Amino acid sequence: MELFGRLASYDYGEVHFKLDKATGLRAIVAIHDSRLGPALGGCRFIHYDTEEAAVTDALRLARGMTYKAALAGLAHGGGKSVIIRPKEVFDRVALFRAFGRFLEDLRGHYVTAEDSGTGLEDMEVIRSVTKNVTGIDPSHGGSGDPSPFTALGVRRGIEAAVKFKLGKASLSGIHVAVQGVGHVGYYLCRELHAAGAKLTVADMDPLKAERAQREFGAKIGGIDTIAEVECDVFAPCALGAGLNDQTIGSLRTSIVAGAANNQLAEPRHGDDLHARGILYAPDYAINAGGLVNVAQEVIGYDAEIARQKTLKIYDTMMEIYERSQKRGAPTYKVADMLVEEKLAAVGK
Ligand code: NAD
Repeated sequence: MELFGRLASYDYGEVHFKLDKATGLRAIVAIHDSRLGPALGGCRFIHYDTEEAAVTDALRLARGMTYKAALAGLAHGGGKSVIIRPKEVFDRVALFRAFGRFLEDLRGHYVTAEDSGTGLEDMEVIRSVTKNVTGIDPSHGGSGDPSPFTALGVRRGIEAAVKFKLGKASLSGIHVAVQGVGHVGYYLCRELHAAGAKLTVADMDPLKAERAQREFGAKIGGIDTIAEVECDVFAPCALGAGLNDQTIGSLRTSIVAGAANNQLAEPRHGDDLHARGILYAPDYAINAGGLVNVAQEVIGYDAEIARQKTLKIYDTMMEIYERSQKRGAPTYKVADMLVEEKLAAVGK
């Protein structure tokens, strides 16, 4: 593996490796950028076919966290950790305790959180050996489920888009098609319904779609056709790469704004949306509410402060939309430019 070449291509940074023979821990902590503060980002605990795949995952994800934290105005850099899930039998508590000791050795340079394959109980184990962890139980000063905060931020980003694109100051009567009503999608529907929006939803799990129908009067759409529903806002809240060569041509909306990560299958799809005159809310900008909430835990958790900070996503999104219009540049590029300006302002 060409490690240093790869670090340079992601504009790194530092990477730490830990092997703990006693527990079988094989962990990677990737710190992409810490100019704005200690790196913050989740810990993945999944199977990887190769060590190279694990390193690549950590590098790619940590870089994304730098952009997300900077745009959300947080005093954090971007980091991510990966624990390669052992193939043989392992002691989960011992493994996460060893991981916590690893973080302690890094002296607060990286603060971890939940991600795919990890949960509250793992964070509690890590907490027993280091304070450089978030996403712990609310009874221990933790911030709890991030999804309602993510949904709140997405609602604010939608409000900004509706004001900018449609000239409406309220969501009353605005039709939003929500793809995926899991954790974030459900709370987003709750926010939108309370604001007077009309909803069409689709989910692989019919029970989740039915719940949105029951609680928010949502119409149920097809999982294969939700992106084609004629609406004011299409909100992807399921998996990534939903905006691609197959879907963009059939969108019948003027705004795409949702919670899903990595919505653009490739960056050029952001150009395609721009060319079609569809306002795209860059995913990492609009879905930062959960990160804002978790970052508050590092300072001392206060739900009201986290809420106030999340509401400001409106201003960030409006700045992106306005700059995009002024420069004739696609919104995803404008968001990246804003981050690069912020990082350049703090210097090397
Ligand atoms: P989730 O797994 O709880 O919900 C996703 C839902 O999408 C599920 O109900 C699933 O059945 C449904 N789904 C999957 N494929 C679908 C398809 N093709 N069509 C319709 N529905 C489909 O996940 P979540 O926590 O709600 O996260 C949703 C997205 O938002 C993810 O991309 C996640 O990375 C991103 N995100 C979440 C948070 C958070 O706070 N949870 C924060 C930032 C970004």
